[in-house]
Amino acid sequence: MFDKSITAYEEAKKVIPGGVDSPVRAFKSVGGTPPFIQKGEGAYLYDIDGNKYLDFVQSWGPLIFGHCDKDIEQAVIATAKNGLSFGAPTILETELANEIVEMYDNIDKVRFVSSGTEAVMSAIRLARGVTSKNDIVKFEGCYHGHSDSLLVQAGSGMATFGSPSSPGVPADLTKHTLLCEYNNIENLRKCFKDSSDIACIIIEPIAGNMGLVPATQEFLDECRKLCDENGALLIFDEVMSGFRASLTGAHGVVNTKADIVTFGKVIGAGMPVGAFASSKEIMGHLSPDGAVYQAGTLSGNPVAMAAGLVSLRKLKANKEIYETLSLKALRLVNGLKEVATKNGINLQVNTRGSMFGFFFCDKEPKNFKEVGTCDFAKFGKFHNEMLKKGFYFACSQYEAGFISTVITDEMIDECINAANEVMSNL
Ligand code: PMP
Repeated sequence: MFDKSITAYEEAKKVIPGGVDSPVRAFKSVGGTPPFIQKGEGAYLYDIDGNKYLDFVQSWGPLIFGHCDKDIEQAVIATAKNGLSFGAPTILETELANEIVEMYDNIDKVRFVSSGTEAVMSAIRLARGVTSKNDIVKFEGCYHGHSDSLLVQAGSGMATFGSPSSPGVPADLTKHTLLCEYNNIENLRKCFKDSSDIACIIIEPIAGNMGLVPATQEFLDECRKLCDENGALLIFDEVMSGFRASLTGAHGVVNTKADIVTFGKVIGAGMPVGAFASSKEIMGHLSPDGAVYQAGTLSGNPVAMAAGLVSLRKLKANKEIYETLSLKALRLVNGLKEVATKNGINLQVNTRGSMFGFFFCDKEPKNFKEVGTCDFAKFGKFHNEMLKKGFYFACSQYEAGFISTVITDEMIDECINAANEVMSNL
């Protein structure tokens, strides 16, 4: 059933390292050949062999309205007809910035970039520039893109490949990255005792790169308190959770406010976009107003801005979407848990808004090490068999899943029935 994809993968490997442009796509942790995608339509993906899959990946988060949403498609086509890029300001950028600012009371200004990696890299530079300090605190299993100083025990593809960091990153560039355990308050306190040079804590408040592992409220409170007491800034990386977990991302789910927030793919509805945002005082340090330099030829690309604008405006105009999506995510994970139990399998499940995760293990993991104790072989078999039945889940237990508005309860129930069959043979 994957013949054309197998050939396409072999061809791709001749000219593209590993045959893919982002490692996680290679299906290394679950084995097998990644289906090469022909098109997406609504809730479904179609591969070049003609297989159809219910898509729980949604381009890793951004497609809240599924594939080829008519409103977004129209805006993209209309904007593209006026030119693809100018490298000059457009009104669309101000409009999208306004949509974001309006939602967050800790944000006055937004700077757009073209990826999540760029957003985080720039936010860190800004934090260092504002505080005149050098160290950054990051947590094991949190992924913040592939910039040098953040490739230290990152999750996502990095976790899957078990690389604590990467060749090509000089130790000199990571020596200011202090690594702490997620959800471990004592560890974090010690870190602040050991260094008086901490510019910022960067955290995924709802980690989606070691599976779905939310930070506890107590842990986030401690992050906030330690930053305030030590003149450091708190950065929430909302590249995945922004406008996904709620209309104000993790900020709508937890009770802690960050100083700087990073956004990514979701605010571009699938187009390459990222952003970082903060108060006017902090953003005042950024070039051309301030001395902290940051730039990008394609930043604020008009086509990407147009897609994001339609998506965010639709979300704001239909706030009940979030409740519906949350209920669907719960329906899915509760259903999976039920059939797992029926088949004598221990499955831990979690949701935050339309983000979901499940782990083949006895106890809910609270950090990266605990996620590492889950049964990856079982996950791999489950993934492969579900794929054959037409259900496209993220290809690693270290990744979160996503529900879109075009996924119906009936589709979810079909998935649970298929999971029951698969689990009865695991
Ligand atoms: N931060 C987080 C939380 C992410 O999940 C990701 C990517 N999934 C990134 C940063 C990097 O974003 P990008 O892949 O767009 O560079």
